[in-house]
Amino acid sequence: MVASRSARERKAAAQAGPLARVKIDLDGEQQFLYRISCSTCVARGHRAWSTHRAGGDNGFMSAMDRWTFHLVEKHPDADAPCLAFLAEAQQRLHDRREGGASE
Ligand SMILES: [Zn+2]
Repeated sequence: MVASRSARERKAAAQAGPLARVKIDLDGEQQFLYRISCSTCVARGHRAWSTHRAGGDNGFMSAMDRWTFHLVEKHPDADAPCLAFLAEAQQRLHDRREGGASE
């Protein structure tokens, strides 16, 4: 499982782009715990931005969506592969809100 975790970590980091720091931990139930933090916000001395989500692909998706929104909002000049999925991320956010999930 360790190999698969670091493989996922690399894949997520590649997708999140150069500003992101991606870390995947395992929680008590051996579930993946995705953590994405923003290296730029940290460097500028702002309150560090980070998101973490538990779970498999759903957790990954939802952490990556949050990161995509952060990029668009705070770093509009940044480029990252995940920005290609912005429209899908917005759709998912919409669906989650419709479903009553809260942040
Ligand atoms: Zn940031």
